[in-house]
Amino acid sequence: MTDLYRLLPEEMEQLVIDMGYPRYRADQILLPLYYKFPKDINDIPQLPKKLREDLTKAGYTIGSAKEIHRVVSDDGDTTKLLLNLPDGTPVETVLIQYPSSKINGHPRSTICVSTQIGCAMGCVFCATGQMGFEKNIKAEEIVAQVIHFANILQQRGEHVTNLVFMGMGEPMANYDEMIRAVRILTHNRGFGIGQRNITISTIGIISGIDKLAEENLQVGLAISLHAPNNELRKKLVPTAGPNSVEDIIEAGRRYYKKTGRRVTFEYALMKGINDSPEIATELAILLKGNGSHVNLIPINPTAGNFNRPTQDNVNEFERILSDAGVNCTVRIEKGIEISAACGQLRTDIVG
Ligand code: SAH
Ligand code: SF4
Repeated sequence: MTDLYRLLPEEMEQLVIDMGYPRYRADQILLPLYYKFPKDINDIPQLPKKLREDLTKAGYTIGSAKEIHRVVSDDGDTTKLLLNLPDGTPVETVLIQYPSSKINGHPRSTICVSTQIGCAMGCVFCATGQMGFEKNIKAEEIVAQVIHFANILQQRGEHVTNLVFMGMGEPMANYDEMIRAVRILTHNRGFGIGQRNITISTIGIISGIDKLAEENLQVGLAISLHAPNNELRKKLVPTAGPNSVEDIIEAGRRYYKKTGRRVTFEYALMKGINDSPEIATELAILLKGNGSHVNLIPINPTAGNFNRPTQDNVNEFERILSDAGVNCTVRIEKGIEISAACGQLRTDIVG
């Protein structure tokens, strides 16, 4: 069985040609797949019946995710879904809307996708990390998460404007499937989202960062740093292992040089752990003159015994970075009351 959402447009073309049909039949499959969201091959009536039968006989299907739980934040801007993937595995996918930031008259609508069930990196503050690793999510299952929300948004006259790989799992640890999904989703005959509207977030797997730099893609890169030195970082990211803070920053520099895309460093602020003025100064010295951007994320208390710093602490941390000339923003945490931190919903619902 092969899900048609797994195929790149070129592969779809080869498939119909190999089946003895003209090339243009591929677009008659691709257009509905990415604009009408059929759930079955027979839901594409413009396709000749014989081709639909041939595809079905050859084991092709159209997979879709099934919603099993939905939580919406009080302001309505964040929607977190627990979706059953076509094989029945529950996964988290989140929509975050920014009504004040309009793109062509529509609110910025960012989908946060998962790339793995669980995660092997074991970050102590992360609900997904505390689950352990279960399995990789396939490209078509990543696409299914986006399509599910695209369908919801289409019914409201809106559409997906941005995509972040910040859900459950480590994208670089599922590199080939992650990149296949990116290629399908950005292809102008596929889903067609702009490469620049995609951000891939990694815990700092250097081989993955270097490989991504060579893909000739204009996607954004976010590196989850969380600490300015190896000693502290290893406490928070126990599997950081051979990837030292210096090496990770160097890999970010190479990515910027190769792609021209500025790298964002994510920094989850935890009270009494990595939020002191001394640590802010150390971080400022480390990143100064780098042209990079720091995203401070006051922690969502999930796994372990971690708390958010006070607003004053967050402001002070931000001020130290800004004064040193390090470009810095505090991520407005949306949806804390609906457990929007990665891995939290699945843990709450499935266990
Ligand atoms: N594995 C990748 C991408 C998924 S996690 C990575 O670690 O970058 C996406 C982001 O959510 C990361 O920056 C991660 O540090 C952050 N995150 C995880 N748990 C969190 C929590 N409890 N509160 C706030 N941010 C969290
Ligand atoms: Fe994995 Fe990212 Fe969570 Fe760390 S923060 S455990 S890398 S999902």
